[in-house]
Amino acid sequence: MSLALSGTGVSRGIALGKAHILRRGQIEIPEYVIPEKFVNDEISRLKKALLTASTQLKAIRKHIPQNTPADIGSFIDAHLLMIQDSMLSDEPIKMIQQQQCNAEWALKQQRDMLIQVFDTMEDPYLRTRKDDIDHVVNRVLNLLLDESAHASDVDSRLKGAILIADDLSPADTVLMQHFGIAGFVTEFGGPTSHTSILARSLGVPAIVGLHNARDFLKENEDIIINGRMGTVLADADDNTAKFYRRRQREEKKRLNELKELKGKPAITSDEQTIQLHANIELPEDIPAVRKIAAEGIGLYRTEFLYMNRDDFPSEEEQYTVYKKVVKALKGAPVTIRTFDLGADKQVNGASSSKQAGTNPALGLRAVRLCLRDIEMFMPQLRAILRTSAHGPVRIMIPMLSNLTELHQVKQLIDDAKLELDREGKAYADNIPVGGMIEVPAAALAANQFAKQLDFLSIGTNDLIQYTLAIDRIDDEVSYLYEPLHPAVLQLIHMSIRAANKAKIPISMCGEMAGDPYFTRLLLGLGLREFSMHPSALLEVKRIVNSTDTRLCEKPARRALNSARQSDVEKIIDSLNIGIDS
Ligand code: PEP
Ligand code: MG
Repeated sequence: MSLALSGTGVSRGIALGKAHILRRGQIEIPEYVIPEKFVNDEISRLKKALLTASTQLKAIRKHIPQNTPADIGSFIDAHLLMIQDSMLSDEPIKMIQQQQCNAEWALKQQRDMLIQVFDTMEDPYLRTRKDDIDHVVNRVLNLLLDESAHASDVDSRLKGAILIADDLSPADTVLMQHFGIAGFVTEFGGPTSHTSILARSLGVPAIVGLHNARDFLKENEDIIINGRMGTVLADADDNTAKFYRRRQREEKKRLNELKELKGKPAITSDEQTIQLHANIELPEDIPAVRKIAAEGIGLYRTEFLYMNRDDFPSEEEQYTVYKKVVKALKGAPVTIRTFDLGADKQVNGASSSKQAGTNPALGLRAVRLCLRDIEMFMPQLRAILRTSAHGPVRIMIPMLSNLTELHQVKQLIDDAKLELDREGKAYADNIPVGGMIEVPAAALAANQFAKQLDFLSIGTNDLIQYTLAIDRIDDEVSYLYEPLHPAVLQLIHMSIRAANKAKIPISMCGEMAGDPYFTRLLLGLGLREFSMHPSALLEVKRIVNSTDTRLCEKPARRALNSARQSDVEKIIDSLNIGIDS
């Protein structure tokens, strides 16, 4: 009997293959006393396991294909840093010495202690990093329990299979692509988990959050997964399998056709030129931008420069990094967003991590934190201004919620310019200053913001979070995360209208901009600039080039006036007819 299940599709693509169920469960950790004369041997055993774990991760890192975005490597690097950190060696060594316990038990105690600390941290980003501690400690524990433990449960024997697991580590995900695993389904995780981000970057079809998947699916049975829809079909009949094989072939053909669009303009069939820009996080993302020949950077998330370190980079260091990005873009515009630190992006050295409130997403985040910590903010403004002497740069302010914040930032920019004048340092005089529409208040007051800014950019990730009052990184409420909620569409439309009225450009740089399902709707709502993950850009271009915006306007208006999401979905489905997904 065939069976259909559904979870959250996080990486598009269709995969057909045999299910391989990973039943890892919790590792049984033995506890025993080590005679005093063997304590040093036990410490050596721990050190050896840590070293092997680190060697395994370094080997996995080498499997990351070139030209993939920097986030892939950084997730593995974060695990490497943890393994090499003294918190996983010094404390457990002390425990072995003082308690004369075995290395596994010492490591377990240290893990429990760290997880407890992370649990009480109030900070959602750090709370989710608990998973990383688990992944890393489990790797070392497996090696302690079995010296020949493999680097991963994923290996070449599973080529063509679809993995069904409780959760997967970033390292598993990297190896999956390397060993030709067709796709995966996990019981936990949401669209923004590291595993999901990696799957998208590596092009592995994936579904997450399918609770109890391992109970419903059987080892070795034929299954079909649709990573866009989040559906899993087991034991499908021949006709269904044939249908999906055809879809898979079409998908491959489509991917090849997409490559042809590189460097070509995005123009609708009614001759509207659409700007398609890329989002980046680090200069290492530039090769991915070049690969698709994006026309510019619509969002450079500078806060990533501060991740995994204790100190803030100096003005000089920032200037060097920003300049590298601007020069690499060879005259194409680069929109540098000022730090969006706080909330889910805490940084060791940021004052925010010390002061994280009970609701960090509503607390001292982004522009609020920058205005509180001028000593951190000024060097960034100076670095961005100095960078503007080397190419077209725009400054973008995240999370504005009132005009006072905007005035304060503008005043600081003016102060920074005066300082640079005095020091005889060059900058472009007319550097555009824009703001992100991420807070419903900013969308509702977009008319006022538009009068005082040079451009706007809609950050739908946060706009949805704040409009619908759902923590974007909380798995429990991710089912409420709905870009098509009538309130969200209204706010998007209001922002576009406000920008048009003020005759300033408006872009969208949240995930919604890179989802081809929404492209025609957004064109119908009047959006003409999109910025997205580089991997989504050519697909969106393909849709833009096959669209007549005039035909999208009426359906978009109907969508705006629909009371129910299901009605909006029907409207989009008919708008999207002819687009194969
Ligand atoms: C957004 O909120 O949509 C956005 C682009 O910013 P970030 O995802 O970095 O918060
Ligand atoms: Mg945001």
